[in-house]
Amino acid sequence: MHWGTRQNNKEHRLKSKSYITFVIIPDPTKSPKTIKIPKWIRFPLLASVIAVSLWVMVTMTSEADYEYKIADAKLSLQKNTYANSNKDMTISELEVNNVKNFQQLEQLKELTYQLQNRLIELEQHKDNIDTKLNGTKKTTNKQPSGAIQLEASIEPLVAEFNASRSSKLAVTTMSQEAVSAPISDNEVTLTHEPQKELTQDEFNKEVELLISRIDSSSIVLDMESQSYDKINDKVDEMIPYWEAYPNKLPVTNTKITSPYGWRRNPFGKKTSEFHRGVDLRASYGTSVYATGKGKVIFAGYDSIYGRLVVIDHGYGIITKYAHNSKLLVSKGDKVKRGDTVAKSGNSGRSSGPHVHYGVLVNGQPQNPLNYLYREK
Ligand SMILES: [Zn+2]
Repeated sequence: MHWGTRQNNKEHRLKSKSYITFVIIPDPTKSPKTIKIPKWIRFPLLASVIAVSLWVMVTMTSEADYEYKIADAKLSLQKNTYANSNKDMTISELEVNNVKNFQQLEQLKELTYQLQNRLIELEQHKDNIDTKLNGTKKTTNKQPSGAIQLEASIEPLVAEFNASRSSKLAVTTMSQEAVSAPISDNEVTLTHEPQKELTQDEFNKEVELLISRIDSSSIVLDMESQSYDKINDKVDEMIPYWEAYPNKLPVTNTKITSPYGWRRNPFGKKTSEFHRGVDLRASYGTSVYATGKGKVIFAGYDSIYGRLVVIDHGYGIITKYAHNSKLLVSKGDKVKRGDTVAKSGNSGRSSGPHVHYGVLVNGQPQNPLNYLYREK
């Protein structure tokens, strides 16, 4: 097929004014076929060919674009799948962390209870010692304020955690109240801070910090508790000793008429004697008191001491109450400080009504005044 041109013959040239002639030669053995197309159709045909070509191009381009879009969609689908699996992992991690956090809080709670019990024990130690030393029972139901405050600060944290745990939203909804509460000197100050969202790492750090604080508080409490234990033991040992110790004089409102030690013989006049006690002024019939807790080992008459009471206080300590008019105890009686053991008099070798009071330690006479408790 070819376009007819102006180089054709005259006849053609005449006709070509109105036609375009196509000559089709299908086969050399056959005669050519001629197609005449009116000349006016020339431009619309060309336009159509161009239009078709453009359409094909556009179609091909959009098909390529479409394939690109599919590939892109596939990629983003893969991404989404990956992200979803990541989300699944994150959720399961959160659940694992939840369980871990819950266990940590339970541990924290347990430590708090232990701390509280230690504080209560410590308070009881103090009360016991107070009771022993002062003879008064202090408030027994008193609970250490520190432990209560600590517990109060832990409880909402645990409760809140339990709530958030059940809704599987934990970690970030933690209250920081408890973890920000400082523990020092057995006192816990509860500070009300606004809720702050914690990351898992922050939560772990806070829990570790709180646990270490409780641990160090426990160590201090243990030391204090041991100290009180020892004081308590010492008090237990000391109490009977101080109860027995002859720390007073046997008569009240008195004065010393003859001191302890060497003195001129009140009877011999020209000789000296060693006075093995003190003479106390006491009118006839004055009450004579035991000066410490002990057991009466003698209550009877002595040629020198007259009507005499001797008390063994233990610890090698013995006291003597002499020249009495009347004995109010018998051998074997147990007495405590302040019990009346006799009425004073002038019996035995005595120059007038008075009380002779003697203290012996391991058989050796002592100055009774040295056993009075005095501020030095
Ligand atoms: Zn005397």
